[in-house]
Amino acid sequence: MVSPSHAKPQTSATIPGPVARQIIDRDSLVLSPSLPRSYALVIDHAKGAEVWDVDGNRYIDFMTGIAVTSTGHSHPEVVAAIKEQAEKFLHICLADFHYEVAVELTEKLDAIAPFKEDAKSFLTNSGAEAVEAAMKLARYHTGKQQFIAFYGAFHGRTLGALSLTASKWRQKEGFGPFLPGVMHVPYPDPDHRILDMNGFDDYGETVVSYIETMVLGKKTSGNDVAAIFVEPVLGEGGYVVPASGFFPALRDLCDRYEILLVADEVQSGMGRTGKWWAIQHFGVEPDIVTTAKGIASGLPLGAIIARKSVMDWEPGSHGSTFGGNPVSCAAALATLRLIENGYMQNAAEMGEYLLAKMRDLQSHHKIIRTVRGLGLMIGIELGWEGQNGHDLRDRIVNRAFHNGLLLLGAGDDVIRLMPPLMIDPVTSDEALTIFEAALSEVEASL
Ligand code: PLP
Repeated sequence: MVSPSHAKPQTSATIPGPVARQIIDRDSLVLSPSLPRSYALVIDHAKGAEVWDVDGNRYIDFMTGIAVTSTGHSHPEVVAAIKEQAEKFLHICLADFHYEVAVELTEKLDAIAPFKEDAKSFLTNSGAEAVEAAMKLARYHTGKQQFIAFYGAFHGRTLGALSLTASKWRQKEGFGPFLPGVMHVPYPDPDHRILDMNGFDDYGETVVSYIETMVLGKKTSGNDVAAIFVEPVLGEGGYVVPASGFFPALRDLCDRYEILLVADEVQSGMGRTGKWWAIQHFGVEPDIVTTAKGIASGLPLGAIIARKSVMDWEPGSHGSTFGGNPVSCAAALATLRLIENGYMQNAAEMGEYLLAKMRDLQSHHKIIRTVRGLGLMIGIELGWEGQNGHDLRDRIVNRAFHNGLLLLGAGDDVIRLMPPLMIDPVTSDEALTIFEAALSEVEASL
């Protein structure tokens, strides 16, 4: 593992500092104003779980570029693999030619796919492209057109993927009309039940029963639905772990109506939850998996991994100029090796460690409503009496940033912890100290 410096975070009184401010001013003139930007971080360099900005301030990274730098920043083995491949060739186009590094990667994806059947993969540049590919393959394979997705879900921002997304209105306003035939249903969030159907102990079973009786029973027919897209742990929507009966009931429903089950593991996959795929915590096999983000430690790459019997599209039906770029494939192979050889186990152990620490914090801080998570996907929901949880969340994230900890929000009122998979207890404890100080500061102001 890469050893962290364990130096105390060094942050100056004024952030952004003078150099950062200049760059942000230039940025605002030429970069798209659509980019959400959480806070004024201008990165200079980074290593492992630490980031330095252009004014010399040091931060602990608990957001990993939104769950991307899985092996930590610039892991030497990933960098070496990138350099070696870059010296050989940068591009030839996988749509028209062959190269071994892509074969090696997809062989590895076959080996770790969360189903017994052999797998075939299509390589993309991003998560949204993987979701688009899964939508196309589902239609192509089943000959059916409609999709079911969940409220709170984030599947990407291209128009097909955005049609499945139902996370925040801002992401959709002004971009319609969306793909026809997409139906949204409640996510099986055990802490926020919006369905109340009698007869089920488990809220996951309630949700699946709702899909069957109300959506397939009244709105459309199971014979018209190609696929159900689901995040095994809701990511952008608030780091929600579904009720335990949900996936077995959903798999059964999909089998009975011949609907493909697509697990969107773009955020939850690649070892982050302590298993290769979050869906493996629920004992259920999907038909297609989408992946991206953490697969190549920061280089752009995504994939759909499908059962061989499902990936039956003909030559020419789908392709990409850059998808499966050889340098990204080399970075992914090094990433997968590191995850397999220790980081996945570390994610499980450090996930338990952080979850326990967060539960302890919850018992001392009234503004923490719930703490939940799987592995290194931990959500802390905020709110207290008349206080707006969204506002509390943003204030804590902002305080933490100024004190040297990078965090991100999710959903309306949740802080998500998603450190790199190589995070260690000492760095985590530093982060927790900063987190608790931010929490106390905001709490004291109420
Ligand atoms: N699917 C999920 C579950 C995601 O979390 C994201 C991104 O946050 C996407 C898809 C889209 O990925 P990308 O931003 O790489 O297009």
